[in-house]
Amino acid sequence: MEIAGISDFESLAASTNAPVFTPQTDDFGLAVHIFKMLNRGIHPYSSGELDLGIFDLDDDIPPAPSLNNCACNGRSPFVGTLVGHLIPVYALELDDFGHLMSEAFRRSLYGRAEERLDARTWARLLDLYLSETTVECPRRGHLYDASQDECPYCRGERTLLALLADC
Ligand SMILES: [Zn+2]
Repeated sequence: MEIAGISDFESLAASTNAPVFTPQTDDFGLAVHIFKMLNRGIHPYSSGELDLGIFDLDDDIPPAPSLNNCACNGRSPFVGTLVGHLIPVYALELDDFGHLMSEAFRRSLYGRAEERLDARTWARLLDLYLSETTVECPRRGHLYDASQDECPYCRGERTLLALLADC
């Protein structure tokens, strides 16, 4: 491989300030994929609308930082650390996943690196989640945590459709 005078991957990695790849970064990446899989493809550091309870429409509103910036600096509307921004309207909140799964996401996506769940733990947890703590939505067949009063996927769809109808 030859990119701008760099002839091997070690030199390429050493020439940047990018984080080193470790088992913990793999665990983070796995948690991102699981979160997206269960949350409509939404990244755990992406944001939706501005929080108009904080911003005034006349304010000079700063744009949301890039997804990469948010992930690197731990700023996400899902845990309230990206102040002024809300989660996408059709996204599930962390608590919609129930106690165990939301705690797993908090630890793996927003906590300290050494507390992230590994692949084996995720496999067992997902098995448990799907077989024992979820119920099937009678309307659309979504699987959602039994602690919720209504299907959060259907609720998100209704919110999104209502917004689109207002456009
Ligand atoms: Zn549903």
